[in-house]
Amino acid sequence: MSKSVLILPGDGIGPEIVTEAEKVLSALVEKHGLEISTEQGLIGGRAIDETGSPLPEETLALGKQSDAVLLGAVGGPKWDNIERSLRPERGLLAIRAGLDLYANLRPAILYKELAGASSLKPEVIDGLNILIVRELTGGIYFGEPRGIRTLEDGQREGFNTLVYKESEIERIARIAFDVAMKRNKKVCSVDKANVLEATELWREVVTHVSDDYPEVSLEHMYVDNAAMQLVRDPRQFDVIVTTNMFGDILSDLASMLTGSIGMLPSASLNAGGKGMYEPIHGSAPDIAGKNIANPLATIISVAMMLRYSLAEPAQADRIERAVQQVLANGLRTADIVSDGMTKVSTSEMGDAVVTSL
Ligand code: NAD
Repeated sequence: MSKSVLILPGDGIGPEIVTEAEKVLSALVEKHGLEISTEQGLIGGRAIDETGSPLPEETLALGKQSDAVLLGAVGGPKWDNIERSLRPERGLLAIRAGLDLYANLRPAILYKELAGASSLKPEVIDGLNILIVRELTGGIYFGEPRGIRTLEDGQREGFNTLVYKESEIERIARIAFDVAMKRNKKVCSVDKANVLEATELWREVVTHVSDDYPEVSLEHMYVDNAAMQLVRDPRQFDVIVTTNMFGDILSDLASMLTGSIGMLPSASLNAGGKGMYEPIHGSAPDIAGKNIANPLATIISVAMMLRYSLAEPAQADRIERAVQQVLANGLRTADIVSDGMTKVSTSEMGDAVVTSL
């Protein structure tokens, strides 16, 4: 039976990069026997403009019916000053929560052709392949109470709550150990257990879960040290599992180890294997509409989608090989271009991947 994919282009460069990903999907359907149907929906700023909500009910309903969701990016200066609960990013948080996408998988892989784009020395990053497993539907981004209140002395106070239940920690830890079993069998759990009670519990539960995975070695690291180690010697890591906020920050850091934020995909999964797939970068309003954004993170997100939610690993391999080939041919968007390489636009990069398929 044909699988269904909901496509949410979003804002800023979202529609440009998603168009290139759709070209790749269409080519797989037309020339390589992939059977899927696609539908588009609204999210983020455009959804606010057209419906008044960053996540219209119809979009969430479509997401629940589909086998996978492909998202561009949301947000932009136009919506930065509207009421907090209506901002584009709330649409993103709401669809993650609505589909119960609690596990965010963010690979940081160095394409050997891009070693020169990293700010670290080649000998430090050569062969880098880290997977960051970030808890996505709990922690301080969702904890209540939250808000900005006025104190008795008249000054305002902003407050948020970091809270994790044992069950939330356990299920994300299991995902990390499960994927580690298919990789190099090393998990590093990142917390701040010396200061935050919520992550003291995190450490305890992750340690408990590790009893079920005797082949996987478990290490605990404080987040400040993890940030340092990621820059000093990133290849010591295989799988990193961490909280929502720490994962948000560390995965962006890890992305720069590889040279460009425009190269990294992500998958957000629920217990049933449904997933939302998106590049890790945002809507890049500074370059939107110029046809210069790098579409590869979105295209590689399609490969992850085929592998994790649509049971089409051969098609996923085909996309990854095509991307590798295009890079080997010397094609680069502006964010990753270097001497001697051919600078191409967003659409030229998408076309080149399609040709390479
Ligand atoms: P950003 O990731 O959009 O941009 C950071 C920098 O990286 C910019 O200089 C941008 O030009 C560059 N960049 C990002 N993606 C690129 C690509 N594909 N090709 C080339 N260069 C690229 O982060 P930001 O500037 O902090 O945020 C911009 C907007 O995006 C904000 O409204 C923010 O809330 C939103 N945002 C959305 C998501 C999401 O939708 N998942 C994630 C992060 C930020």
